[in-house]
Amino acid sequence: MNATTEKRIALISVHGDPAVEIGKEEAGGQNVYVRQVGEALAQLGWQVDMFTRKVSEAQDTIVQHNQNCRTIRFKAGPLEFVPRDNLFTYLPEFVENLLKFQKENGIRYQLVHTNYWHSSWVGMQLKTIQKSKQVHTYHSLGAVKYNTIEKIPLVASQRLAVEKEVLETAERIVATSPQEQQHMRSLVSTKGNIDIIPCGTDIRRFGSVERTAARTELGINPEDKVVLYVGRFDPRKGIETLVRAVRESKLYGSKNLKLIIGGGSTPGNSDGIERDRIEGIIQELGMSDFTSLPGRLSQEILPTYYAAADVCVVPSHYEPFGLVAIEAMASGTPVVASDVGGLQFTVVDEETGLLAPPQNVIAFAKAIDRILSNPEWRDQLGKAGRKRVIENFSWDGVAHQLSELYTQLLQQTAKEPVLATK
Ligand code: UDP
Repeated sequence: MNATTEKRIALISVHGDPAVEIGKEEAGGQNVYVRQVGEALAQLGWQVDMFTRKVSEAQDTIVQHNQNCRTIRFKAGPLEFVPRDNLFTYLPEFVENLLKFQKENGIRYQLVHTNYWHSSWVGMQLKTIQKSKQVHTYHSLGAVKYNTIEKIPLVASQRLAVEKEVLETAERIVATSPQEQQHMRSLVSTKGNIDIIPCGTDIRRFGSVERTAARTELGINPEDKVVLYVGRFDPRKGIETLVRAVRESKLYGSKNLKLIIGGGSTPGNSDGIERDRIEGIIQELGMSDFTSLPGRLSQEILPTYYAAADVCVVPSHYEPFGLVAIEAMASGTPVVASDVGGLQFTVVDEETGLLAPPQNVIAFAKAIDRILSNPEWRDQLGKAGRKRVIENFSWDGVAHQLSELYTQLLQQTAKEPVLATK
């Protein structure tokens, strides 16, 4: 293989560090996506370098995940956590450091896959400076997000402009669901090339634990009815809807009802405000006795939690994809989710779970009750969910699709100088 068609890719994820613990502060789906895609591509023979921002002196600059896959951290602005809405100003330093890294290591990335809008800006600079080809995944669209929140941040106009530019100029945009593609077209631009390649999950890990064994491990009784939430503490995640829905459940007052809200970090971090608010509601509604908040759940223990649950609830106000839904489905657990975004793609209403209008407490309560009151149907939904994930959302499958796309783009690059000399 010559240098021009070398299987080398830079995954850029300025704020979503693929090497950190997931489930805290702003670390969630994007971090998992970049890490899993990176590792799966390495398995397919790609040299994968994942670039992110260093947030403390103590962090290693390079984390080697396996022989072909590593995370590389650059200083960009202060060596501390900076909320993503304040990161834009530090991006030129990130680009400078990336160029310096290339020079020092004798590498030039002909192909970059950028994640989230900051990284798309970095990718667009590399395109201008050295003609790198760009693939971009949004993970979240400003045009959609700003419709679902009350306080629009100062950086909004900048973000919307960058998101439009990348759609129109990147070689390929990866939409993770048909719903996301539709939003790009209706809210961002009619120009640009979009492919749909979904997010994936580890179908070997999720689904590897039986319900009974999982309950024994977690100390949950066989007759308990367990409602599970997994995710970051962020108002957009709609945890309040879930808490209030469980208060409205027909089973409320039964000693078998259990609510587990997994995720979040230690007090003092930015997600602590939402965690405190949710804990306040739980207390106010008198639900503390049967609700547990175990904090961040490691990727190792997560399959056990999903397997132990009767139903996993994803009550987001908006969700571009929603990895938690497919993780639960892969584990054979039905999902009750908001009828929005990528959840409309992953969760098939009445087949792998139920969809309910976002923020509708009564609709969520009814959906949860329908599943909790019918264990046979619960199992049927769970089985269909696992089948759907195996067929459509395994990381291996997703990585193959990305690998094909990258190869196609690199082959075009390889042909370009030849065409130019004709
Ligand atoms: N997650 C985790 N531990 C936690 C909470 C969440 O590992 O305590 C992981 C979860 O398994 C999923 C990701 O964080 O892979 C969340 O992704 P999702 O797309 O559902 O939401 P996002 O964080 O991107 O909004």
